[in-house]
Amino acid sequence: MVIIFTAILIVMRLAAELWLNALNRREVLRHAAAAPPAVAAIMDAPTYEKAVAYTLAKNRLARWMLVFDAGLLALAVFSGVLPWLFARVCGPSTGSGQAWSGAWFILIAGVLLSLPGLPFEWWEQFRLEEKFGFNKSTLRLWLVDKLKGLALAVVIGFPLLWALFALVRAVGGTWWLWGWALMFVFQMLMLVLYPKLILPLFNKLTPLPEDELRARLLALAERTKFHAQTIQVIDGSKRSGHSNAFFTGFGRFRRIVLFDTLIAQLAPEELEAVLAHEIGHYRLGHIPRMLAVSAALQLGGFAALAWLAHSAWFASAFGFPTDIMAPVFLLFGLLSGLAVFWFTPIGNFFSRRHEYQADAFARDALGAPAPMVGALRKLAQKNLSNLTPHPLFSGFYYSHPTLVEREQALVKTV
Ligand SMILES: [Zn+2]
Repeated sequence: MVIIFTAILIVMRLAAELWLNALNRREVLRHAAAAPPAVAAIMDAPTYEKAVAYTLAKNRLARWMLVFDAGLLALAVFSGVLPWLFARVCGPSTGSGQAWSGAWFILIAGVLLSLPGLPFEWWEQFRLEEKFGFNKSTLRLWLVDKLKGLALAVVIGFPLLWALFALVRAVGGTWWLWGWALMFVFQMLMLVLYPKLILPLFNKLTPLPEDELRARLLALAERTKFHAQTIQVIDGSKRSGHSNAFFTGFGRFRRIVLFDTLIAQLAPEELEAVLAHEIGHYRLGHIPRMLAVSAALQLGGFAALAWLAHSAWFASAFGFPTDIMAPVFLLFGLLSGLAVFWFTPIGNFFSRRHEYQADAFARDALGAPAPMVGALRKLAQKNLSNLTPHPLFSGFYYSHPTLVEREQALVKTV
């Protein structure tokens, strides 16, 4: 019963993903010959042609990866390979060794399950991105990144899992509340530590050099009451030609990071607009609101986890011994996405609302919509963005409104 239900969920999600993908592909092909009037001013004809080819190439790869991921998930949970691995790693372990070996089991299973997808990741970086001029990484750098990621999983993921399982044993029936609290504290800690400790393992962060641009951006920060000490530049160009800006941390630990590629591509007033947009997220309270929502969702997740852990049918349906926590955690991690997927558009709907608000904040801070519009257009050109996504596709997957939607909102309410 559980197996059939799970199989149906896997097929349903794959069908929905492939359908959305095909819808988007048709929409792009429909406009492939010439850009529709609404977006014709954004890209010149050769750039538009390249953006269409890039979108279609990514769409093709996504189709293969969706089928592959669904097949891998089905194989992982139905073949019996995970219970086999569990018996190897944990054996008939009971007592205090259980938290330790349970954490190892999840870590090893996670690493093994990530291996089959590596050829796709390689192809994406060194064939697809390469073909369109975005790849700046080397095979060596790519491999070193993977090894660093693995080391981080061991150094951070293992103790966290171990603490979680130890907690389960220590506090009894209310473990899921304590587990949730532990995860929340861990995530807050990571928000502060990530830019200080983890990001520098992969990238070089340097303060924006003292020049006219820095003075201008800091003046804008002052004007919008952000009071930044420094603006960091990250060497994104080490791996990719794509450009971006982002915001990390909170309170005293907040910082704004601009990609070096972004600084190279945008005019000073456009960079001001991007910075003002990021400050907008901070000043409008988007970050604590998102943290609160994600904490509430995680509490629901832990409650579901507790329920499944107490339901012997769940673990045994997938061939695991009951009354041991680690397999339930792993199965939950693998399968929860089958349900969460259907709520993707709700999360993205609220995310897009925040983007509109941050755009409006940037426009008001700069006194005109033009710099923000200019920045968005250049970003779309340089990143070869899809200008004609299908509304259902963008409505489902896009955390940011489309370029046309953002431009319309920016000029509408002046
Ligand atoms: Zn934003």
